[in-house]
Amino acid sequence: MADPEGRPRAEVVVDLSAVRANVAHLQHVVAPSQLLVVVKAHGYGHGAVEVARAARQAGAPWLGVAVLEEALALRAAGDTGRLLCWLAVPGEDYAPAVIADIDVTASSPRQLEEIVAAADSLERVARVQLKVDTGLSRNGALPEQWPALVRAARAAQQQGRIEVSGTWSHLACADEVGHPSLASQERTFERALMVCAEEGLEPGLRHLANSAAALTRPSSRYDLVRCGIAAYGLSPAPGHADAAGLGLRPAMTLRGRLALVKAVPVGSGVSYGHTHVTSRDTVLGLVPLGYGDGVPRHASSAVDLLVGGRRVPLVGRVCMDQVVVDLGPGADDEAGAEVVLFGPGQDGEPTAQEWAEAVGTISYEIVTRIGPRVPRTYVDAAPPTRRPSGGSR
Ligand SMILES: *Cc1c(COP(=O)(O)O)cnc(C)c1O
Repeated sequence: MADPEGRPRAEVVVDLSAVRANVAHLQHVVAPSQLLVVVKAHGYGHGAVEVARAARQAGAPWLGVAVLEEALALRAAGDTGRLLCWLAVPGEDYAPAVIADIDVTASSPRQLEEIVAAADSLERVARVQLKVDTGLSRNGALPEQWPALVRAARAAQQQGRIEVSGTWSHLACADEVGHPSLASQERTFERALMVCAEEGLEPGLRHLANSAAALTRPSSRYDLVRCGIAAYGLSPAPGHADAAGLGLRPAMTLRGRLALVKAVPVGSGVSYGHTHVTSRDTVLGLVPLGYGDGVPRHASSAVDLLVGGRRVPLVGRVCMDQVVVDLGPGADDEAGAEVVLFGPGQDGEPTAQEWAEAVGTISYEIVTRIGPRVPRTYVDAAPPTRRPSGGSR
């Protein structure tokens, strides 16, 4: 719903120039390693197709997603570059992935068999990456199962049924710089690569690092790094450095418009359960976003929002569709005014990281959970390139 000027009730604004700048920065930092930009979960809530396009424009040679449907959606939207996916269940149909030239991941001999079967049925070569579990205890073959997976992959490759394009793993504690598990996972990864050498299998692209490791641990970079959160301009290791300190620009702003403004007397209970009661006569503003849109209910009375350039507290419980802010005694009736919930922070608005700290989570969850009811608007606010002084126009 928009007002006559076309301003919607609420929107996520994504600055694609920030995405491009972050991608370019990450490539610069990790070179000569290559960059894979992770656009799973609707591009961490930013929009997978739009972010994918911006990442490609900035030169990202690889994109990555969790599941096959996400990869196929990118192909349907016209993406033709290298694209890796890594999460599937037994019985998954890999044929569409093989046809669409998507690199898939095998974490077990059984999974590899299913991929090979799809390749055989199409009489095409499947591109496969092998995943080893070096200590996260999530996906990937455990070191004791690894030789069997490597042997099976080598055999299938020799038979011309697959091409092994990479060997990889994922870190558990990369956001804790210097955590002892990092060196341990690197050693386990090295041993897995040695098994490849012993079994006569070229590992293809070797990769281990997520955003935090890519930015803070050069030894983890290998041939490729997989960056998600950093591409969106949020710090992957907030205990170590903030976004600006890592050279990143947050791309997402969540904003809405005041639906209603009203003066209430001291002692007014606000929102469900009356967990907040006004301590003075004041003016309340109604913001048309709630947990149905992904605003965490734990933000109840825990964060500030920016209204008219001023920070005001969110008071009382977050409801499904709305929250209430205390605009302060004597505030003007600013119904219709812009409310910024979070953004890059440059105009005084809270950041997604601030929200994360206030509600006891990580910035990833704050941006990723903003729901489909909130329309995404894309802007391209590239700062004008500076002209050399005295140059012609
Ligand atoms: C989500 C994901 C990433 C990206 O992690 P960030 O911390 O956002 O950089 C990398 N690799 C795998 C396997 C993932 O699932």
